Amino acid sequence: MKVELIFATPLEILMKTIRISHASENRMDSRGDSPGQNDARLLKRIIEMRHMSTLESITYNFHIEDISRAVLQEISRHRIGYSHIVKSTRFTLGKYLSREIPQDPPFGEKEKLVGKLCVVPPQLGKEGKELFVNATYNALFEVTKLFSLGYPNDVVKYLLPESFKTELYATVNARELHHILKLRLSEKALWEFRAIAKAMYEEVKKRHPILWESFDLDKVK
Ligand SMILES: Cc1cc2nc3c(=O)[nH]c(=O)nc-3n(C[C@H](O)[C@H](O)[C@H](O)COP(=O)(O)OP(=O)(O)OC[C@H]3O[C@@H](n4cnc5c(N)ncnc54)[C@H](O)[C@@H]3O)c2cc1C
Repeated sequence: MKVELIFATPLEILMKTIRISHASENRMDSRGDSPGQNDARLLKRIIEMRHMSTLESITYNFHIEDISRAVLQEISRHRIGYSHIVKSTRFTLGKYLSREIPQDPPFGEKEKLVGKLCVVPPQLGKEGKELFVNATYNALFEVTKLFSLGYPNDVVKYLLPESFKTELYATVNARELHHILKLRLSEKALWEFRAIAKAMYEEVKKRHPILWESFDLDKVK
């Protein structure tokens, strides 16, 4: 799994929004992503007051790679202030699996292909991993068989395991990201979503520390 922050609205835009609401534009002292002392104080007050709609003026774009289709369906449940474009299996599946693969190669080869195309849960021990790799490899083998029988992506994709890797570009505003992180940094969240949330959180904390350190997200259990 790889999460990269590819764009963030400068913090200055958030401060402009907040200053308008307080008619105090003349006191603004932020530049780009660096807040001045006046703005830092005001931002702290705004967060304490829970004037959360101001955060909608900040947008983040993330490139998220090597995640499973299992977690994709969970990410897709967020519908307000969040959207993404996902790599389409309907258009791309044949590029990865159109040629037949050997039916029963040595385990190492199976592991290599499965690791390349699918997410292997790191919790698996030796026996569990063997079972997982063998079953997943068999499914991938059957996928290539369906292609060789002439079926198109639209039909073959129904045989894909949930662990099959995908990739997306996500656009999310800071208010919704705060909501997503509160839910998905929790131990109750799916482990893969939790890892994605953690990586997103690290990225935005690096970009806008004054904003993200003002929430108690480190304490989410
Ligand atoms: C630990 C965990 C377990 C889960 N288990 C299941 C499960 O078993 N089955 C399942 O189907 N889903 C499950 N979900 C998904 C969950 O039900 C939500 O669909 C998902 O977390 C998206 O969050 P959200 O509804 O806050 O949507 P967001 O799009 O993130 O919405 C943001 C906020 O906008 C408001 N909002 C959005 N839509 C509406 C609306 N239509 N009406 C009123 N207010 C709205 C709400 O305040 C909402 O919190 C689980 C989620 C978690 C974190």
